[in-house]
Amino acid sequence: MAPTYESIDSKLIHAGEPRPRIRGSVIMPIFQSANFEDAGGDDYASVRYIRLNNTPNHQVLHAKLAILEGAEAALVTASGMAAISTTLLTLLQVGDHILMQDGLYGGTHELARSDLPGFGIQVDFIDANDPGSWESLLRPTTRAIYVETMTNPLLQVGDLAAVPAFARAHGLVSLIDNTFASPVNFRPAEHGFDLSLHSCTKYLNGHSDIVAGCVIGRADLVKRIRHRLNHLGGSLDPHTCFLLQRGLKTLAVRIRHQGASAQALAEMLHDHPVVSRVNYPGLASHPHHQRARALFDGFSGMLSFDLEGGATAVDALLANLTLPVNAPSLGAVESLITLPARTSHIGLPAAERARIGIGDGLVRVSVGLEGSDDLMADFRHALTAAAAA
Ligand SMILES: *Cc1c(COP(=O)(O)O)cnc(C)c1O
Repeated sequence: MAPTYESIDSKLIHAGEPRPRIRGSVIMPIFQSANFEDAGGDDYASVRYIRLNNTPNHQVLHAKLAILEGAEAALVTASGMAAISTTLLTLLQVGDHILMQDGLYGGTHELARSDLPGFGIQVDFIDANDPGSWESLLRPTTRAIYVETMTNPLLQVGDLAAVPAFARAHGLVSLIDNTFASPVNFRPAEHGFDLSLHSCTKYLNGHSDIVAGCVIGRADLVKRIRHRLNHLGGSLDPHTCFLLQRGLKTLAVRIRHQGASAQALAEMLHDHPVVSRVNYPGLASHPHHQRARALFDGFSGMLSFDLEGGATAVDALLANLTLPVNAPSLGAVESLITLPARTSHIGLPAAERARIGIGDGLVRVSVGLEGSDDLMADFRHALTAAAAA
């Protein structure tokens, strides 16, 4: 009998899984085979080969990911950037134009700024918070509009509801990088987005041990993107598919714990005398709190804050924290800390960094699965040291 379920927790475990189970195996086996015997089909699509994204491990993940966001189709890729670049190079060709949110994830921003123009694709950056300013940037060649659910590292939430409406009114494809929210906190298809993109390296896998990506959304577009991915070659290996599928099953439990810990940590930081500002959409003081409440089921495990004492205080904080790892990336079981001014935004002049709110005292935290009380105690202790520095 077909299983019945409603919650994302059940979808994470059961959606897309083979029924009956393969040889009774409770877990989807890994089909670590580059190629498959000819099954007698009469077209190229019947050829099964890892790069063509059609092994059994791909098929299960595609079905599961689509169901998680209530979308028609999905495609896994060899990294988040493979998903983003392959998608953009499917939707855009020479002469085309795209509107992209200002302050995107660094890899995407650089792709847009330094790679796309070489393919004859023009980009204009928009203020995602100000839909009234978008129309004046439209050109006859504009094909798409691209935003992120929450920005890095300031966790701003643009006017996401306006994006699909604007896209429909002007015949554009709407895209959103949903990495920071995950399907647990936000499901773009339910709000009319055509395509959602993820770095599965982050929350979806959640264990800091693979790199992967995906595109989720309209079947006609995913079909075209898959065709291009077959040629560009950024396909996910079956063993990594298996690891991603394993990581996915605990996504909702992880996100709920991380969200609750992040909320508690954000509130503690907000009330702490050495912290001048906390960026977390779950705080009532966040400029986009009401918007985030209306759109999201939870506010993610990501936050950032500013220390009064700048670089000196940050150094003291880092030297005294014992649980979070000072490492890039996010969405993992272990809490991770990064200093945007010294990592993701190091390429910008200090004055420009200060202008966009990324000062030397800014600390970004990806809250992990440690006990909330342990994490809070660790931060309290390190903040006392930062205050004395
Ligand atoms: C990490 C990240 C990416 C890129 O993903 P990779 O898996 O590293 O290629 C894209 N967008 C966001 C928001 C990210 O955090």
